[in-house]
Amino acid sequence: MSQTFLGMPHAPAGVGHLHGDRPFPDAARDALANTQLRRNLGHATATIRAKRASVVGELDDWEELRLAGEALKAYTMAHLDRLLPQLEAAVTARGGVVHWARDATEANQIVVDLVRATGTDEVVKVKSMATAEIGLNEALAAAGIAAVETDLAELIVQLGHDEPSHILVPAIHRNRAEIREIFLREMPGVDPELTDEPRRLAMAARAHLRAKFLTTKVAISGANFGIAETGTITVVESEGNGRMCLTLPDTLITVMGIEKVVPTWTDLEVFLQLLPRSSTGERMNPYTSTWTGVTPGDGPQTFHLVLVDNGRTAVLADPAGRSALHCIRCSACLNVCPVYERAGGHAYGSVYPGPIGAVLTPQLTGAATSLPYASSLCGACFDACPVRIDIPSMLVHLRSTQPHPATERAAFEAVAWTMASAGRFRLGERLLRLGRLIARRGRIRRLPPPLSAWTDTRDLPAPPQQTFRDWWSAR
Ligand code: SF4
Repeated sequence: MSQTFLGMPHAPAGVGHLHGDRPFPDAARDALANTQLRRNLGHATATIRAKRASVVGELDDWEELRLAGEALKAYTMAHLDRLLPQLEAAVTARGGVVHWARDATEANQIVVDLVRATGTDEVVKVKSMATAEIGLNEALAAAGIAAVETDLAELIVQLGHDEPSHILVPAIHRNRAEIREIFLREMPGVDPELTDEPRRLAMAARAHLRAKFLTTKVAISGANFGIAETGTITVVESEGNGRMCLTLPDTLITVMGIEKVVPTWTDLEVFLQLLPRSSTGERMNPYTSTWTGVTPGDGPQTFHLVLVDNGRTAVLADPAGRSALHCIRCSACLNVCPVYERAGGHAYGSVYPGPIGAVLTPQLTGAATSLPYASSLCGACFDACPVRIDIPSMLVHLRSTQPHPATERAAFEAVAWTMASAGRFRLGERLLRLGRLIARRGRIRRLPPPLSAWTDTRDLPAPPQQTFRDWWSAR
C-alpha cells in the first residue's frame, strides 16, 4: 500500500482552474450585459429542466433513491480511510498502477511523466472535471504534449480558445451559429460549405476526431465512480467518444478525485439511476463504460489510476461543509439556479460553477471569496440535488466564515440590539415607515452611505403603511 500522506490543506493557487481572477459581482455584471449569452443560457437550462422534471416524475421512489444516494455518500466519506486503500489493492491486483497526488501540481507531474514515458507527444481526452480542475491540459502543453478533447462540447470550448461554463454542457453559452464559425476557423480540413445544422456540425466533429482515436496511443479520462470492492472504474457519457478513448489506445491514464469512490457494485445501481435523470434528463446513460485493471488482449494494456486530493481532505475536515464532496456532478442545481441562469458559468471563475461551485470552490481553495453570496438562497438547488446536498445551509455557513466589513457588522449588531427588546422593536418599526418618504412607486432605489452598499446592487421595497402589529390590533 502507498505510504503517501493525503493531507495538503487546500488546492494551491496558481495551478488549475479553481481560483478565479475576478470577484463574482464584477464578472457577473459583464455577463449580464451579454444578451446573447443570457438567451443561450435561458434556452438551454429551460430545456434541460423540462426533460429532467419529466423523467424524475416517472419514478414513484425518487425521494427514496435520493435518500439512498445521500446515505451512501455519507457512509463513503466516513470510511475513505478504508475504501481508498481497498480500491488501490483491487486495481493493483488486476494489473493497474495506482498513484496518489496531494494536489494539482503533483497530479499534473505524475500524468506528464507517465505520458513522456510512452514517447508520445499527443493524447486524447474524454471530458473530465478533475483534469480541468487541476489544469492538466496546460501542464501537458508546457511539457510539449498536445491534449485533444474528444467530448463534442469540450472540443468546441478547446477550438474556441474558451473556458467551459457548465459542468455537463461546457459550451452551453454557444449557439449553433457560433459553433459553425469556430469549426470553420479552427478545424483543419473542414468543409467550407458547413452549415449550422446540428447533424452537419456533429459529422464534422466526428470526422475530425476519428483520425485522432485511431492513431493516438495514450488516452486520459476522469472517473464518475471507482468501486472499492473490485477496483472497477466507471465513466458515463452520451456520445461514445469516451468509449473510444477508453478502449482504443494502448495506455489509459485515469484522474479521479478521492471522493468518487463507492463501496460496492450494488451501490452503483443507485447512482446510475440518479445521475442520468438529474443531468441529461434521460432514463439511463447512452454509454456507461466500466473496466477493471487490465484485460490481456482487450483494450489498453497499461492502466494508471491517479487519485487526487487537491483540497478534498480539508473539505472533509469541516462537518458543516463536507457534504459538498457528495456531489456526483449532475449539474441539476445549475439548471434550476436563477443566479446561474443569468450570470452563466464564467462569472464563477472556477471549473465548478453554479450553486455547487459556490460551496465547493471556496472550501477546496480555502480562499476568501464572494462566491457564497452568489445565491438568492431560494432553495431550488437542494430540491433538485439527487444526493440531497443542503447547499443553501452550506452557503449561509460559508458566508459566516468570510470576512465582513465593519459597517456590516455594526448594522447587524444594531438590528440584534433592536430586536432583543419588544419596545425597541416597536419603535424601530415606526421609524422604518419614514423610508416611505424616499420611496418611488413602491421601491427605494438609493439609500445614503453606508446603506448605499445595499441599494447599489438591488432595490428595497418601500415599508408598508401599517405595521403587522397595527394591522393585527385593528382587526
Ligand atoms: S450539488 Fe447536487 S445537483 Fe448540484 S451538481 Fe452536485 S449532485 Fe448535482
